[in-house]
Amino acid sequence: MYDGWNPWHGCTKISPGCAHCYVYRRDEAFGGTASKCRKTAAFDLPLRRDRSGGWKLPLGSWVYTCFTSDFLLADADDWRPDCWKMMRERSDCTFCFFTKRIERIGSCLPPDWGDGYDNVVVGCTVENQEMAERRLPVFAELPIKRRLIVAEPLLGHIDVSPWLGCVEEVCAGGESGKDARPCDFEWVLALRDACAERGVPFSFHQTGARFVRGGKLYKIPRRLQHVQAKKAGIDIPGPGERRKRPPEPTAEQLELPL
Ligand code: SF4
Repeated sequence: MYDGWNPWHGCTKISPGCAHCYVYRRDEAFGGTASKCRKTAAFDLPLRRDRSGGWKLPLGSWVYTCFTSDFLLADADDWRPDCWKMMRERSDCTFCFFTKRIERIGSCLPPDWGDGYDNVVVGCTVENQEMAERRLPVFAELPIKRRLIVAEPLLGHIDVSPWLGCVEEVCAGGESGKDARPCDFEWVLALRDACAERGVPFSFHQTGARFVRGGKLYKIPRRLQHVQAKKAGIDIPGPGERRKRPPEPTAEQLELPL
């Protein structure tokens, strides 16, 4: 069972991978802007119960957290302590967030973090070699129990080999949207091969809208991007639970008119 929780919405672009951010695209499609971060009505979702008294986020859920923002965004510093408390209280769930601001985590952790919460998975996003070399050395040194490398949107060849020893999975995928930059299958395979060499699970999430294979550019419709990636058959399954890709936010989650 997996679910989503967006305690806040909106973000600031900080690196090349943000250029065609889907949160901005979705907000603009509904006449809004994602440039201003705001707390959402779903802020306390992990602690909410339904009419029968059960948790709204079912017991044992895998919870994609903050996927319409960045969990380590400075604008959310005042709100994050309550989120850590909710994650702590819902120790039956696993909370997973991706970030392009891993260097901020030291100043964002709760006092009882220790060497990490068992139920929090942190995904460090790297879209090119420059970002990998900037973020992954920091990531590898942090007290985090469960780590992922998220190479999305993949914008070039990346060598993540020096940091594979500390992660439980590497995910890769291309960019979606009408202005998407091409994703070359060779880049994906290079990541996959590095993972295979070290026995690290790997998941090819999606091809992106412009996918290059064998030197030829293919335009892939949104509905087929995930399917085509899976058809490539290059995933390396992990021993633990299988995860799905983060859900794209619905208009309701974005709190925009349908
Ligand atoms: S960090 Fe993520 S959510 Fe924020 S602007 Fe960049 S791509 Fe969008």
